[in-house]
Amino acid sequence: MPTFMPNTLGVYVSIPFCRAKCSYCNFASGVFGSERMAAYVDRLAAEIRAIRVQAESWNAVLPEKLDSAYFGGGTPSLLSPEQMQQILKALQEVFFFEAGAEITLECAPGQLSDELSQALPRFGFNRVSLGVQSFVDREAAAVGRLHTRAIALAEIARLRRAGIDDINVDLIAGLPHQTLESWQESLNAALETGVPHLSVYMLDVDEDSRLGREMLAGGTRYGVGLVPHEATIAAMYNQASEQFSRAGVAQYEISNFARAGCESRHNLKYWTRQPYLGFGLDAHSFLHTTDGNAVRASRTDDLTQYLDQSADEILTPVSTNDAIEEAWFLGLRLTAGVSLPAMEEKIGHAAMRAFQPILAECEELGLLERTGPQICLTQQGRLFANDVFARFLGVLATSDKLEASFQKAEFQQQGAFV
Ligand code: SF4
Repeated sequence: MPTFMPNTLGVYVSIPFCRAKCSYCNFASGVFGSERMAAYVDRLAAEIRAIRVQAESWNAVLPEKLDSAYFGGGTPSLLSPEQMQQILKALQEVFFFEAGAEITLECAPGQLSDELSQALPRFGFNRVSLGVQSFVDREAAAVGRLHTRAIALAEIARLRRAGIDDINVDLIAGLPHQTLESWQESLNAALETGVPHLSVYMLDVDEDSRLGREMLAGGTRYGVGLVPHEATIAAMYNQASEQFSRAGVAQYEISNFARAGCESRHNLKYWTRQPYLGFGLDAHSFLHTTDGNAVRASRTDDLTQYLDQSADEILTPVSTNDAIEEAWFLGLRLTAGVSLPAMEEKIGHAAMRAFQPILAECEELGLLERTGPQICLTQQGRLFANDVFARFLGVLATSDKLEASFQKAEFQQQGAFV
């Protein structure tokens, strides 16, 4: 069976600059002066122009056609039109943008200049993702967001006037001061905007954000005592799933909801193992390789190292076993789940057998369920998705060695996933 390699690519461009650092933020982003921003854009453009040579050194196959591009961060809407043009020009020199390619800009409400908003359609942008997080002003202010509900609504109206209707609104469940009632207010407001795409994230508690660090250390400065209990956060997530689905904004991934046909084509690449290339600080790539396997690459998250090019990319070859495990846990992120017959056809009968105990155990625990030939996360499974996915790791490495080598041969013969 010939190896399947998609001939289109998604590109992610990281713009790590913000006006203020939100207390819950665990991204490689920060507040920097305009000189650093200009130096960063120069570096980014140079990195894009050098990508063909770099991809060759990774033995990676680099499709020429782009069918999606995503400018994320950070707050890419802080770029001037000239800086945006500089990046787009570099991309156009190296790649060919397919007609109708999905091109997304992440914006913080109130932080998009008139000049850039009017230039967006001319530059090819046809989608905007707005980091609203909450439509309740006290909650947004408590985590350092600089906008109010009125500003967020005005931004949506302004984008529509500029010709951008494909808008996503991000919400976070678990912010300080949030209650089930105030969350309901945010859900209602989000639906009333009529935007075709909504994302709901549950507050991340880790060492990489100020709020997360305080929660772990028991401090008080960032409103830790006002963060809802995790059972309440879970109830908020369930409330969003139910309400959005009822309103016709269907859940298609753990955190993502869309009206039919408005799913994010770029983000779907991450969960279906399609190739994508990340440029800029802390950007990640996934590419197929010339030997029929795949490689993941990540760039430094240190801005100084990025600017002076003193850090190499970290390359992680994706083994056959890794590819099989990724196909399971990335596929299960999608509401449609994984087709068992299609999976068996790809990975072979023996490999399929190795995962049967995990599937059976998760079904028994109410974390996975079957609908016809599909297996997918239950609502409970979505809340504990990371625990479910962890069970799929290392399964092939620990299964019987003879059987594993058979699986591998069978899998490679079929050229599955690569
Ligand atoms: S959450 Fe977004 S806007 Fe806030 S600091 Fe992080 S990247 Fe910047």
